[in-house]
Amino acid sequence: MKGLMQDYQLSLDTIFRRAEQFYPDKTVHTGGPAPITLTYGEWADRTRRLGGVLDTLGISADGRVATFAWNSGRHLELYFAAPCTGRVLHTLNIRLFPDQVVYIANHAEDEVVFVDRSLLGLFLPLLERLPQVRHVVVMDDLPAGAPGAEVPDDPRFHDYEELLAAAAPVEFHVEDENQAAAMCYTSGTTGNPKGVVYSHRSTWLHSIGVLTNSGIGLAETDTVMPVVPMFHANAWGLAHAAPMAGASLVFPGPDMSPAGILKLLQEQEVTLSAGVPTIWQGLLPLLDGVELPKLRRIPCGGSAVPEALSEAFRLKLGRPILQAWGMTETSPVATASHVPTRSKGLPEEEQAHLRARAGLSLPGVEVRIVEPGSITPLPWDDEATGELQVRGAWIAAEYYRPDDGAQLNTEDGWMKTGDVAAIDQYGSVRIVDRTKDLVKSGGEWISSVELENLLMAHPAVKEAAVIGVPHPRWDERPLACIVLQEGSTATGEDILDYLRPLVAKWWLPDAVEFIDEVPKTSVGKFSKKDLRTRFANYHLK
Ligand code: ADP
Repeated sequence: MKGLMQDYQLSLDTIFRRAEQFYPDKTVHTGGPAPITLTYGEWADRTRRLGGVLDTLGISADGRVATFAWNSGRHLELYFAAPCTGRVLHTLNIRLFPDQVVYIANHAEDEVVFVDRSLLGLFLPLLERLPQVRHVVVMDDLPAGAPGAEVPDDPRFHDYEELLAAAAPVEFHVEDENQAAAMCYTSGTTGNPKGVVYSHRSTWLHSIGVLTNSGIGLAETDTVMPVVPMFHANAWGLAHAAPMAGASLVFPGPDMSPAGILKLLQEQEVTLSAGVPTIWQGLLPLLDGVELPKLRRIPCGGSAVPEALSEAFRLKLGRPILQAWGMTETSPVATASHVPTRSKGLPEEEQAHLRARAGLSLPGVEVRIVEPGSITPLPWDDEATGELQVRGAWIAAEYYRPDDGAQLNTEDGWMKTGDVAAIDQYGSVRIVDRTKDLVKSGGEWISSVELENLLMAHPAVKEAAVIGVPHPRWDERPLACIVLQEGSTATGEDILDYLRPLVAKWWLPDAVEFIDEVPKTSVGKFSKKDLRTRFANYHLK
């Protein structure tokens, strides 16, 4: 028997209209050198006008509308104006190497790029290599008269505010929930960037997932600050979920410094703020004696969240970090780690161990682990480890025109993540490592994530990254690359002595190298690729 319910289209214009009609007084604040606060009512009017601008510029019916921008209220206008007029928002990662930006923009066939004036100097040298870009719209995020790159005297260039002032607001209507709403390329930590194309439906359902308490638990009462860039997997869904819930938004603009972020957390009374671990690691030294009583939730993911970091936040602010796992390909939030009711009475230390896991899949997403290279499921006993695979309402089925024909899904419809994980009897995922980052020693695996987790709990260690280096007998052995806390004098032997009782003997790194800084990727993750290159010819003594 068939259900007899309406076939209602889950499209982003329905989220837009909620914010416009139900929450016109809620605010969107952008920080930085030219701070500005708009109400959702004003934002909605501007977003409708921006839809008119896209028509005036002659952007094709499903044309790609690119952004090269910080997190800002204007970026949020683009987040809705593009998809709600049938176009496809394409957020370019401003921190990629120029060749990669050029590759991505050409691959996506971007027709127009909206650029922050503070980023114009970075963007201008790329333009002549982007033959399909017909318009560049400059969004002035600097104070009047502030120095910055000159806008060229070129008919392709326009001023955002002038276009908006001249445009008429348009009606939003999206025919089909399965049409593309936005696209985002993987940040390329492990290879060439690949395009992921989100539909209206997947984005809508992911937003609901973010609102659930099993997900991020974002609510109308929140003031949400996505520190995670809007070009990193749609700011993890926060920029869609906040207008859906009616939560106010705060964007850092171009000031991503720890001091700038702390100032916004305090002044704007932010209640929920998300970013990769390096963001929170950077903030930690500033938190002594600071109280952030309003901040109730700190979602963090994108790479392993060290237990020591989460605990440091709990001890300093009274709130631990909420770990979530996901990928650009999973919209991105796929699992989140909450301490379940049955574990609430456990000692804090054990609860911290639970929070250090990736946690349960959100409603709408399923997980399994399989033997590498197969589709044979492995048991959920927290012992067996295998490739993590996912399926669900906001999981990518395939990449956008992959150059290498890469198959993202298995023959039975699960997405291959390239992560290695274990799952416990209750379904809680523990990420062991990325397949590419595992240290392969004598045919066995050593988890770099687990070693880093332990190393970062050492009081003298500021950052730790473990990579495999070539070894004549064992194939690879772990090398610990350590950044010491300022003023610390710990030696390699001290670090190894500390690790010795905590890990199996054969897991102990063969050497410790002290470095000034762990190289970071374009989205602020530890770049193991760069470290491996640096230590490619490392000779273990
Ligand atoms: P890229 O693969 O280019 O870095 P993504 O941001 O999509 O781009 O990265 C997804 C990857 O980040 C995952 O496959 C996983 O390896 C890692 N990751 C994300 N969240 C976590 C987490 N909570 N713990 C461990 N690793 C994580």
